[in-house]
Amino acid sequence: MAQIDNMNQQVVFLSDGSKRTRGRDAQRINILIAKAVANAVKSTLGPKGMDKMIVDDLGDVTVSNDGATILSEMSIDHPVGKMLVEVAKTQDNEVGDGTTSVVVLSGGLLGKAEKMLDDDIHSSIIINGYRMAAKKAKEYYAELADSVSIKDSKTLKDIAVTSMTGKAAEASMELADLVVEAIKTVSEEENGTTINRDKIKIEKKGGAGLTDSELIKGVVIDKEVVNEGMPKKMAKAKIALIDSALEVKETETDAKIQITSPDQLQAFLDQEEGMLKNMVEKIKASGANVVFCQKGIDDLAQHFLSKEGILAVRRVKKSDMTLLSRATGAKIVNRTNDLNKDDLGFAEDVNSKKVSGEDMVFIEGCKNPKAVTVLVRGGSDHVMDEAERALNDALGAVISAIKIGKVVAGGGSSEIEVAVKLREYAKTVGGREQLAIDAFAETLEIIPRTLAETAGMDPIDTLVNLRSKHAKASGKYIGVDVYQSKLVDLKSQKVIEPLTVKTQAITSASEVTEMILRIDDIIAGSSKGSAPPMPPDMGGMGGMPGMM
Ligand code: ADP
Ligand code: MG
Repeated sequence: MAQIDNMNQQVVFLSDGSKRTRGRDAQRINILIAKAVANAVKSTLGPKGMDKMIVDDLGDVTVSNDGATILSEMSIDHPVGKMLVEVAKTQDNEVGDGTTSVVVLSGGLLGKAEKMLDDDIHSSIIINGYRMAAKKAKEYYAELADSVSIKDSKTLKDIAVTSMTGKAAEASMELADLVVEAIKTVSEEENGTTINRDKIKIEKKGGAGLTDSELIKGVVIDKEVVNEGMPKKMAKAKIALIDSALEVKETETDAKIQITSPDQLQAFLDQEEGMLKNMVEKIKASGANVVFCQKGIDDLAQHFLSKEGILAVRRVKKSDMTLLSRATGAKIVNRTNDLNKDDLGFAEDVNSKKVSGEDMVFIEGCKNPKAVTVLVRGGSDHVMDEAERALNDALGAVISAIKIGKVVAGGGSSEIEVAVKLREYAKTVGGREQLAIDAFAETLEIIPRTLAETAGMDPIDTLVNLRSKHAKASGKYIGVDVYQSKLVDLKSQKVIEPLTVKTQAITSASEVTEMILRIDDIIAGSSKGSAPPMPPDMGGMGGMPGMM
């Protein structure tokens, strides 16, 4: 996101040619939009959060509890709305979880800023106070954190479960095990732990329950062996990866071929056959017994490959080719002519198996086993899609936790603790900034407050109780247990999250808040026809309840 530092320099172009909105009005409109967007995802927060159903123009339906997904599926036209979508995406890319929280926090910070602006506190004071608060908040979170390492499977599983609850809940235990095992398998210990998320593939296949999902220590390709005559399995596979078609290209040259007699036709066909045969011979000569081809394979080529006892798969996705290359050590080759034995990869076993009646090709026992596939099973596409999002969150959360090596307790417990400390800090700062720091603390409390709401608890009572418990040192980890609708020690409940999910959310939310607060002039770019439209009365977002 472009950050423009010079105050009063941000300009948002609107399609309405004549209008220019300035000063407080501009701020008011922007804050209203941000609050509306935040409110749209707020009720999905936590394990008891509700799902949203989004129906697009074509009638396609997405049912999700995932903040980033909901926001990216919603058609948000206003530039400020888009900024918040960006914030959710950043959170997703940086830490893989906490997308709803970051948007809710941004909406909260802006809502509180509005009240201060109404009280004639200048935005530069608010921005300054928020900056001070954000810096301190991150320190307080870090003080609360416990250490974790990749060896600590139990804790890693707890992190996975925490980030998945609410999505794919019925299978979160089973899926969490897969997440931890997948990460451990692909992790590499060399000058510390490195984990490459790209080595973990998620493949979905219907026809069974989520709990039937499994981890394959290898690559699974959702394709079939191209020809009935080919072997369906190959032990000690020597694998060739080819990214061009095993076909004779008809338009290799522009020359027209004039065929005037049956003999000529025969000669032409013979020549084509000869070329295909030659390709297959080259493959054979390299020593390959398995071929993955990114493009098509001509019928005749299939026939020759079958005769040679070679197992071949066609139209393999580019991303799968890359993964296969990484896992088996094969080099992706463009021309069969160039193929030689050094380009081949290795796997103990390539096997075409039926999964719910459909063929999938499993490549296991790879030369470099550091590529795995989580095969997600489910009763419907919606269920599997949401499970995939849950898995992505959990993978992101566990990887982040290992990277930073720190975790904090969830359920709003850390937010309350940090809020209590921020209020103490605010007193030492004094002046008008104190008000902004207090507002920041109050914003953090939106998290436990919302969790309490989703659990049917009274939000005000809950906050009062939480604050008093956190005033004592023994209450550090007390938060909201949404399942039992009461306050408990979340650390002993094993509801834990990576520190970076919290700190990244603070960073992003305060950055976007600052950016939006700096805008005090909205100028319609009349000559720019493609500028995003501005809903004059905020259209369908009007009826949403206000943030606290
Ligand atoms: P986000 O997109 O922000 O990750 P989620 O819907 O995943 O939103 O909710 C995350 C919030 O739910 C966090 O504050 C986390 O601490 C809380 N949470 C997760 N599991 C539990 C639980 N079992 N009890 C209470 N709170 C929980
Ligand atoms: Mg989450």
